[in-house]
Amino acid sequence: MSKAVTQNSCSYCTPLGASLAFKGIENAITMLHGSQGCATYMRRFLISHFREPIDIASSSFTEETAIFGGGANLHVGLDNLISQYNPELIAVASTCLSETIGDDLGLHIRDYKKAKTGESIPYIVPVSTPSYKGSHIEGFYLAVMALIQYFAEGRSKPDGAVNVFPGMVSCEDLRYLKEALFAFGMPAIMVPDYSETLEGGNWEEHHPIPPGGTPVELLKKTGQSRASIEFGQVIGTDQSAAQYLAEHHGVTAARIPLPIGIRKTDIFFQTLEEISGVSIPLCLRNNRGRLVDALGDAHKYLYGKRAVVYGEDDFVLSVSSFLLETGLHLSVCGGSGKGEGFKEKMTALVTESGTEMPIIYEGSDFKEIEIAAMQKGADIFVGNSKGYKMSRSFDIPLVRIGFPIHDRIGGPRILHLGYKGALNLLDLITNELIRTQQSISSVGYSYI
Ligand code: SF4
Repeated sequence: MSKAVTQNSCSYCTPLGASLAFKGIENAITMLHGSQGCATYMRRFLISHFREPIDIASSSFTEETAIFGGGANLHVGLDNLISQYNPELIAVASTCLSETIGDDLGLHIRDYKKAKTGESIPYIVPVSTPSYKGSHIEGFYLAVMALIQYFAEGRSKPDGAVNVFPGMVSCEDLRYLKEALFAFGMPAIMVPDYSETLEGGNWEEHHPIPPGGTPVELLKKTGQSRASIEFGQVIGTDQSAAQYLAEHHGVTAARIPLPIGIRKTDIFFQTLEEISGVSIPLCLRNNRGRLVDALGDAHKYLYGKRAVVYGEDDFVLSVSSFLLETGLHLSVCGGSGKGEGFKEKMTALVTESGTEMPIIYEGSDFKEIEIAAMQKGADIFVGNSKGYKMSRSFDIPLVRIGFPIHDRIGGPRILHLGYKGALNLLDLITNELIRTQQSISSVGYSYI
């Protein structure tokens, strides 16, 4: 049965995801082609998670622009951005309004470049991101794709680097990935990399655009890399930068699951092993050993407990895989998008585990997750902070992971990936369940 209405959707606005991806490019600034409120909403949303100043410009549509088109506003906006920020790259994402009136963003940018012939201006990369066509995660992938399509140059000089398309992960995850790639001795081009731009240190002086991010020069080299690794099992082929590079530049593509938990991390490190020809380094193998040991320790607290998981499709798939490894059972799995084959992959995962099939939703909203959780029962919610109301109304604990985390600090520093990330998640989830048991105990206890 099709849904007549969405109540409290688990997915967010498409250009919001694009804006996040563009924050991972060095000396880049994002402009939204549409009305001002969109930019304000996205800034507010991102700032509450990252706790950093985040500038997103807007071509500020008015009533008149909404009827006659926003070309003139866009041109003035680009002039202002160049004079105020001196960026190397301006990324322009469309919004619902500009898409609905059919404003031709590409044409406006071409006109702007023509008007500036002979002048030195930044790269200007457009991306089409109407929110009624996808969610924040699609916006993220589309932004990465737009960058690769714009910059990747041919394979005239193949080199030894590997492209890594990590998807929408935390700043800590990005730093972890860099460490892991370094351990393999693998030069890598990570697109995007907002680990510093959205979580840098203190500055001596003000930077209009925070330092860090993937340099444009490296974006150009992605077409010459020896391979691409892209995290995501359900990314549409039209949104896959790895696939694009394989088709247009002959770069071998490995599209693998987000490395959360033992099995998914094994796949990631085996892929790195194959590409680099280097065995999995001892430091990473040691982490795996610690994780296996900790899973044994935690099993008695977790086995048979029911978890509700929600978030971006690929995130839910990998987190669910990990939760099943811990002995937890799944009662509801809510993917926020409409990823290709999400339901089928989720079903196959649970079937393989031999546990009871959860209720699986795609394009889900919190209302239906709530109703399903009542039906199937739940001991813990696992997902972003937007599940707080649900967790509060049921008085069931919520372990906050993923994006966004708006009611706690430290969201960007949560490590999810790799054996180390799985250890972190295991501790968070197990301790939350122990805390709940402890708090309802009539006698109280201090040993477990
Ligand atoms: S109108 Fe569309 S682009 Fe603007 S904030 Fe809302 S969903 Fe996002």
